[in-house]
Amino acid sequence: LLVMAATDPLTKLFNRRRITEIIEYEITRSKREPRMMAFLIGDIDHFKSINDTFGHSGGDIVLAHVGRLIAGAFRLSDIAVRYGGEEFCVVLRGCNESDAAQFAQRLVREARSQGVRLSDGQSTQFTLSVGYACRPSETERAPHVESLHEVIARADQALYRAKREGRNQAVAAFLPGSMASI
Ligand code: GH3
Ligand code: MG
Ligand code: MG
Repeated sequence: LLVMAATDPLTKLFNRRRITEIIEYEITRSKREPRMMAFLIGDIDHFKSINDTFGHSGGDIVLAHVGRLIAGAFRLSDIAVRYGGEEFCVVLRGCNESDAAQFAQRLVREARSQGVRLSDGQSTQFTLSVGYACRPSETERAPHVESLHEVIARADQALYRAKREGRNQAVAAFLPGSMASI
């Protein structure tokens, strides 16, 4: 029951209800045991037109596919969540900027290269846009420790830039405290 309450049935990833708890726990823990974390927010591009073309059930198959793609890409220590309708969030624990960049770029590359087979013999392609931000550990940026809200806001702004700059790409967030106004 606990697993069911924490899992999104369509994508088999954690649901949004659990992510705040898990991340707050990680942030508390990182005070004892400093380590960097990266937050990625991915969003399927033009998903509405996938639904319009293949129906809601076709869209659901693409969502489940993205769930498997993400689940197959991360390490056991990472956390993946269905964050909203067609939005996903991945928390990479103990990872630096370059690990995060590699992970994000690989996700975008794999998404664009995979076809999804739909139930009626049709198939479709899709792309992902990803924004990612690294949360420095306390020792590296003492005394300031970035809150959950701040780091998610930075990743979200990066996702917005990925969309604006043409989608189908991963974009790194600005550093903490240097948020550009858009
Ligand atoms: P963008 O590239 O800017 O992200 O465009 P988009 O079309 O992906 O984004 P938009 O926010 O306009 O549309 C998201 C759509 O996702 C609208 C909603 O109907 C659909 N959606 C949300 N949850 C589900 C779901 O569980 N199943 C299906 N099939 N569709 C869903
Ligand atoms: Mg969206
Ligand atoms: Mg979208």
